[in-house]
Amino acid sequence: MSSPGSMQELQEGSVCPLCACYFEDPVTTECGHSYCRGCLVTHTGRKQSTSGQLICPKCGRAMSWKGVTTDIQLGVTTRIARRLNLPAPPKRKKFGAQGLQ
Ligand SMILES: [Zn+2]
Ligand SMILES: [Zn+2]
Repeated sequence: MSSPGSMQELQEGSVCPLCACYFEDPVTTECGHSYCRGCLVTHTGRKQSTSGQLICPKCGRAMSWKGVTTDIQLGVTTRIARRLNLPAPPKRKKFGAQGLQ
């Protein structure tokens, strides 16, 4: 995935799986999955707390909030995608409500 890629790749790589919109303050979990910070907080139903655990909505891995890092690179990518004024990302099935494992 190191090739420049198409616009579509850029677009799809900038979309949060939880809200199906461009990332807002993107973070990456220990397992390498990315979400908006707000979406992840909402999904886990917890405010950020140093002791709180969270379950990755995608792979179900349990980890602590300490393992979640701000994804600067993704933030840049998302900004580029926004600046290019790409069309709205393709609608995807909403996760979350369906209880991913
Ligand atoms: Zn989101
Ligand atoms: Zn994961």
